[in-house]
This record gives sequence, C-alpha cells and structure tokens, in this order.
Amino acid sequence: NSGSRDITAAVVRGKEQPFVIEQARLRGPQDDEVLVKIVATGLCHTDLIVRDQYYPVPLPAVLGHEGAGIVEAVGPNVRELKAGDHVVLTYGQCGHCNPCRGGHGAYCRDFFALNFGGDDGHGHTAITDAQGQPLHDHFFAQSSFATFALAREINAIKVPDDAPLELLGPLGCGIQTGAGAVLNSLQVRSGSSFASYGAGAVGLSAVMAAKVAGATTIIAIDVVPSRLQLAMELGATHVVNSRETDVIEAVRAITGGGADFALESTGRPEVLSAGIEALGGLGMMGVVGAPKLGTTASFDVNNLLLGGRSIRGIVEGDSVPQVFIPQLVTLYQQGRFPFDRLVKFYPLEQINQAAEDSTRGITLKPILRIA
Ligand code: NAD
Ligand code: ZN
Repeated sequence: NSGSRDITAAVVRGKEQPFVIEQARLRGPQDDEVLVKIVATGLCHTDLIVRDQYYPVPLPAVLGHEGAGIVEAVGPNVRELKAGDHVVLTYGQCGHCNPCRGGHGAYCRDFFALNFGGDDGHGHTAITDAQGQPLHDHFFAQSSFATFALAREINAIKVPDDAPLELLGPLGCGIQTGAGAVLNSLQVRSGSSFASYGAGAVGLSAVMAAKVAGATTIIAIDVVPSRLQLAMELGATHVVNSRETDVIEAVRAITGGGADFALESTGRPEVLSAGIEALGGLGMMGVVGAPKLGTTASFDVNNLLLGGRSIRGIVEGDSVPQVFIPQLVTLYQQGRFPFDRLVKFYPLEQINQAAEDSTRGITLKPILRIA
C-alpha cells in the first residue's frame, strides 16, 4: 500500500498483560481518513478496562483514544482538514444514522463497532506487526498509542495553533466526558447543587464544569484525600471521603435534602445506588463510570418515582466534538477550565508506569509524550 510507514506503537498482546513497545507498519490514508503524527496521547481508564478485557476488544491490539497531533497527510475524500492542521482525536461515529444526524454521535448505532470493534468495521485492520501479522486497531477510530495514527475527518477535531497541543488529547475523551455530562447532558444550572461521585479525571472535569455553569454547591466524593484536596482547588465547595463518612447523610446534609444534579464516575454499582438515594426532588443522576458488562445496580423504585428523580447514561458527554472541544480550549485559555492541573506527562516508553500510577491514584491524567 502506498503511503505506508514504520511506526512505534504500544501493543496489548493478552488480557491483563502489560503494554509492549513494538515496531509496526501503518498503511496510508484512504477515503476520508487523515494520517496524524501523534504529539501526545492521554491514558484513560477505558484503555485499562479494555487491556483487562471488561470490554471484549479483540487482542492483540493498539489502544489509545485521547490522541493529539498534526495532520501529516489526508485521503482523497477529506474536505476541510489539511497537512499541518493541529487536531484532537475523539470517538468514532458513522455520521449518517439518526443519532449522528441529530448531533448525538456518542449514541451512533455503530458506536461499539466503530470504537471497540478492533478493525474498520468491515474486518480490515491498518497496522501490521514486525512479523507482518495484523494488529487490531481503529480503537476509538484512532489507536493513538503510536507515533502515527489514522483517524477519519469526522473524529479529527481542528484546534487553534496557539493552544498547547501536547496537553489537549484528553479533551477527546475523559475531560470531554466529565465536562459534557455537566454542561450538555445534565445541564447543571446556575445556583444549583451538584455532587460528583468520583474525583478522578472525569469527576474533576465535571467539578470544573459545574463551576463554569454557576452551581453554588459543588460536592466531590472520593476515597483518595489528595484528589479531594485538588477538587477544592478546582471549584468544589465541599468534599466527602466516603471511606470515613456516610455519603448519603453527608450529601443530604450539605444540600439541605439532596443534590439537584449528580454524576457517577467511579464505575461502582454501590456508589451509584448511594448517589441515587442522595438526590433531591427532581434530581438527576448521570452515569458515566463503566463497570464490567452485565453489572447491575439497585435503587428504591418509589424513591425515584415519588421524587420525580431520573437516572441517565451518558457517553462522551453527549457533545458535538467539533463544537465542544474548541469551547473547552477557549475556557482553558481563559483560565476558567484549568484541566492542566490534572495532568502528568510520561514518555511513551513508560506507559506501564503511567497505567500503574493511574490505577494507584498517584496520577490523575497521564499523558504520554510521543513526538
Ligand atoms: P479514575 O480512575 O481517574 O477515577 C475514578 C475515581 O473513583 C478515582 O478517583 C477513585 O479513587 C474513585 N473511587 C473508586 N472507588 C470509590 C468509592 N467507593 N467511592 C468514591 N470514589 C471512589 O477514572 P476516570 O478516568 O476518571 O474514569 C472514570 C470512569 O469513567 C471509568 O469507569 C471510565 O472507564 C469511565 N469513562 C466513561 C466514559 C463515557 O463516555 N461514559 C468516558 C471516559 C471514561
Ligand atoms: Zn476514554
């Protein structure tokens, strides 16, 4: 294939196995694809649950779904992007089903196939390993734990040249998820109360967004004291360590009866149940934390019914990335969304250390520097 090139990539070869840095080969861009020279890629909890096979992405695979880089070349059907553009890579969507056409690409009918399928949706991969064997790829329509990645024009979001590109990758997933859940899905109101169950990268992005939205009571709940401390610096008005305190009582006491809005990002069903219990009348719970497939959680039906409460699942902050990611960049540049406070940089070669630091709660949002 013309335009194919040697790349270095982090490969997951088996369930719960460490990432292995390997030499591989990536084909050139076709159709509406863009070839991106990756500058840096965020590591998201979702990469780790796929490494550990909570979601059945076929292995061996190149993961990575918070890529940021510079367009190197474009396929013949790319309309607007051109070589040299700075882009943030986000999730894949087909672009023509009803949810995509309605501006809800995160609920694309083909979302699982396009983001977790491990190929282009038609059984073809674009990467081969040093032995010439295919590696599963197209993870979130990018597989950006690599020096170069192929995305499609629809999921490569142009960002201003004057923004710090190496920092921006997480806007494509984890940060967009927390901020979008608050601003797009829950539509947290000025003067309202908001409780973030989980103060990881997603939960703290939600805290910052709740402050942007004008919520006046912002509660962060976690079990790691340093994360709660940071939550206070980023806009939380209260914090609850759920290892030491009864969360339901605490949230009800702080809010005077229950939270108006809440977001669950721990991926733990018992935390979700508690969060629903601690909603106020007409309160809304957004669910973004991802447990193993098949996990169930329980709640008191009459508590939901009589209080007019609601629970909704949220993918990727339900954003239109072309609109929302540049907005987050502007909020960052204005000092109103300081997500750089969550970040620690690692070289790509230290991806396993980054993963371990993330799991142990030492690093909130690792970003792997690639170029
Ligand atoms: P993270 O590990 O940084 O954050 C999770 C936080 O939950 C941690 O701070 C942890 O200390 C805290 N926690 C764990 N157990 C707890 C408990 N019992 N009580 C209170 N807090 C507890 O992960 P993240 O990157 O912020 O991602 C959060 C979740 O969102 C993951 O499950 C991830 O897979 C998922 N995710 C979903 C989407 C989506 O589109 N829905 C997008 C990105 C990430
Ligand atoms: Zn993610």
